[in-house]
Amino acid sequence: MNDCLFCKIVAKEFPAEIVYETGRTLAFRDIKPQAPTHVLVIPKAHHADAAALAQADDGLADEVLKSAHEVAVIDGVAEEGYRIVFNTGPAAGQTVFHVHAHVLGGRDLTWPPG
Ligand code: 5GP
Ligand code: ZN
Repeated sequence: MNDCLFCKIVAKEFPAEIVYETGRTLAFRDIKPQAPTHVLVIPKAHHADAAALAQADDGLADEVLKSAHEVAVIDGVAEEGYRIVFNTGPAAGQTVFHVHAHVLGGRDLTWPPG
């Protein structure tokens, strides 16, 4: 996906503040943070959304979820609590169509979300 912003971040063709990396996942800080911790966790391989990630093989979705938890540990919010969000599709507010888990924490998060 030549025109995908997050593929460019994976390829190091576009800068990002990387927080954590595994063989198949990358975590970097959101450019417009909505909470003290706001990190995006992506599979390095391009999958458009959570539905596509769920169908990927070899436990890739598991690895994204584990990386999301590891990010919370690294940022020190794992104990107090944090939120993992996959905006999936335009009506949910997805704007970048390379699947990403938002890891949000470091403040009280209200429910329901907007
Ligand atoms: P979505 O709306 O698709 O769920 O989330 C996309 C997220 O990507 C947004 O929170 C937005 O702030 C973030 N974002 C957009 N462009 C960039 C960028 O160039 N770098 C980083 N680090 N985050 C970005
Ligand atoms: Zn991509």
